[in-house]
This record gives sequence, C-alpha cells and structure tokens, in this order.
Amino acid sequence: MNDCIFCKIARGEISTEKIYENNNFFSIPDANPFAEGHSLVISKKHFETALDLSNDLGSELLDCIKETTIRLMKKYDAEGFNVMNNNFEVAGQIVKHVHFHILPRRKGDNIKIIA
Ligand code: AMP
Ligand code: ZN
Repeated sequence: MNDCIFCKIARGEISTEKIYENNNFFSIPDANPFAEGHSLVISKKHFETALDLSNDLGSELLDCIKETTIRLMKKYDAEGFNVMNNNFEVAGQIVKHVHFHILPRRKGDNIKIIA
C-alpha cells in the first residue's frame, strides 16, 4: 500500500524511534499520545484489521506486545497497562493498517478508557 502511513514507516520512508521489532511486527511511540508512553505495535505487512492477520502470526504479535510493554513500563515507571485494538471505522479505527495501542498506566493518571 503506497500511501499508507504505517507502510511508509515500515519501509523506513518516515523515520521514527523504534521501541522493539521482530520479523513481522514493530513498535513506535504514538504521534498524538493520550497517555505518557502511549505506543503502537504495528504489522510490517499491510493488513487492514486484526481479522486479516493469520493465526500463525499470533506468537510474534504477542512477543512484540510483551517486549514493547516491558520496555515502556520500565521507562515510564508504570504499574499497569492497557492494550487496545480498534477495528473498522465504527470502532474508532482511523489508520486502516492493523495496530495495537499500548498505554502504560499509573495510579491517579486520570486516563479514561471508553469501551
Ligand atoms: P486508530 O484510531 O486506532 O486508527 O489510531 C491511529 C493512531 O495512529 C492514532 O493514535 C494516531 O495518533 C497514530 N498515528 C497516526 N500517524 C502516526 C505516525 N506517523 N506516527 C505515529 N503514530 C501515528
Ligand atoms: Zn499499510
């Protein structure tokens, strides 16, 4: 996908800080964080939603989520975290390339997750 922003980042056409990567996923800080350390786990290949990911990518996806979270919790001294994944417009998906939000959490951080 030529004009997809996350494909451009995956191809290295837009430079960003990478937090972690494995063969099929990488993570970067979110450009408009709504919590300190808010970051995204993104597939290297273009898939629109989580339903398009093949089951055999599950292990690498979990690895990228966990390794990214461990690094963020240390860096931001977090006590917990949320993982969020919006699929399709009606559920709030803006970038149509599958990604998982990771939100480090601390007591009293006043972040409201609307489910
Ligand atoms: P969603 O609503 O789940 O599609 O969220 C898309 C997220 O991507 C938003 O939180 C944006 O702030 C984030 N985002 C969009 N463009 C970039 C970018 N170039 N680098 C980092 N994060 C981005
Ligand atoms: Zn893409």
